Amino acid sequence: MRTYDCDGLTNFRQVPAAVVLPESASAVQQIVALCHQHRVPFVARGSGTGLSGGALPAEGGIVISLARLNRILEVDLANARVVVEPGVINAHVTARVAPYGYFYAPDPSSQSVCTIGGNVAENSGGAHCLKYGFTTTHVLAMDVVLPDGSLIHVGSATGDAPGYDLCGMFVGSEGTLGIATRIVLRIVRRPQTVRTMLAAFDSTDHAGQAVSDIIAAGIVPAAAEMMDRLSIAAAEAAVHAGYPQCDGLLLIELDGTEEEVDWLTRHVSDICRACGAWEIRIAHSDAERAAIWKGRKSAFAAVGRISPNYIVQDGVIPRTALPRVLREIQQLSAATGLRVANVFHAGDGNLHPLVLYDRRIEGQEQRAEELAGEILRICVRAGGSITGEHGVGIEKREFMPEMFAEPDLATMQRVRIAFDPLGLSNPGKVFPRPRLCAERQGKHEPHPIEVAGIAEYF
Ligand SMILES: Cc1cc2nc3c(=O)[nH]c(=O)nc-3n(C[C@H](O)[C@H](O)[C@H](O)COP(=O)(O)OP(=O)(O)OC[C@H]3O[C@@H](n4cnc5c(N)ncnc54)[C@H](O)[C@@H]3O)c2cc1C
Repeated sequence: MRTYDCDGLTNFRQVPAAVVLPESASAVQQIVALCHQHRVPFVARGSGTGLSGGALPAEGGIVISLARLNRILEVDLANARVVVEPGVINAHVTARVAPYGYFYAPDPSSQSVCTIGGNVAENSGGAHCLKYGFTTTHVLAMDVVLPDGSLIHVGSATGDAPGYDLCGMFVGSEGTLGIATRIVLRIVRRPQTVRTMLAAFDSTDHAGQAVSDIIAAGIVPAAAEMMDRLSIAAAEAAVHAGYPQCDGLLLIELDGTEEEVDWLTRHVSDICRACGAWEIRIAHSDAERAAIWKGRKSAFAAVGRISPNYIVQDGVIPRTALPRVLREIQQLSAATGLRVANVFHAGDGNLHPLVLYDRRIEGQEQRAEELAGEILRICVRAGGSITGEHGVGIEKREFMPEMFAEPDLATMQRVRIAFDPLGLSNPGKVFPRPRLCAERQGKHEPHPIEVAGIAEYF
């Protein structure tokens, strides 16, 4: 059971009371109904690659692993849909439909191992979500086992469903509203031409300016990713991607018809040069394209080559604030003496600063956590968000009041309680404890929800 005591955020650990690996949706229903009957908290788990402690079990709670619900149930090309069980690995969806000229667009860097169920719960993103949208855009309908064991159907495989958008609400709910057991996904026709290019700049400022200028020119690349010198060094050490050595590297992918992509390539190259790019490389084969992406997709793990420990931060800022925010992060890094590597989805302003530290040096872990927290505050001050795609989980629940007023949080909590009045489905996640500022200051009047004795679960 120790295998299940944490997810990708390894500094929070809790050995579960039991781990169950159901093989069917009805088995999931039975397990959840038993939990409900005996008041046992549970947490759904896909591949455990989450980076915010989402799949961390509650004390005395069980883990419901969906790993064995891993079948692709239906491929409906005529309607551009695929029906999957939640334990299907993200990359397997594209692998299954690629021979017919389709792909599944949301592509987290962990796509070779993470599951669709986990992607749905976190509303995961990836490099190609800039143009094609996050997971929520691609989930049409779902079967969900509610925390009392009943099964509901949300969304519609054929178009807009009347009534509340419960499917939209479930996506991103981090396992707190129930367990998805069957998911209908939208697949996308592969464009005629895909072109991947690299542009090397002397600074992340210049690279960030190029991204802003490209989008201001009305061009939405399929992907626009940025890496700084430190993350390039890590990726090179791990996978030898052949990147140019520079302080700001842009990976840009353009897709469409041949003529469109030719025109876009010229236009984007001109913008990059005007912003100071001194080298522009275009991938001329699938192998070159794959090498460019391999470096980027391996970058988080590659940082293990240059630092014994690191924190992966995830925050969002308006794209136009990129140069300023990156400078502020640099200043914090210099002031604390901790290195920060940056590798991120520049097109949608989704930063992933990696705070490097050595746990063996006393006090460094704490300083790294403080620095990572300060980066989130910078994001919020810049008009952004405390998470772009990794979720709140347990890691960021204390930051929720930095973004939301108390009525906002109370409304979210009411939604949670409507689905899960006993607070058994992934308790302790998303909502801060104690929740209210007044509660923190010891002068809190209990809210009716809390009087009902429910708040202690959240
Ligand atoms: C190297 C690396 C790179 C990453 N890159 C990205 C990236 O580019 N973009 C991105 O968005 N994320 C990224 N992540 C984070 C992570 O991979 C995603 O959050 C992913 O969606 C988690 O999927 P999983 O199957 O591992 O879910 P888990 O970690 O097992 O669970 C995540 C959450 O989903 C819930 N859950 C799982 N299955 C279900 C279900 N069937 N029903 C309801 N709730 C469920 C769990 O309770 C938990 O709260 C990365 C992680 C790593 C380690």
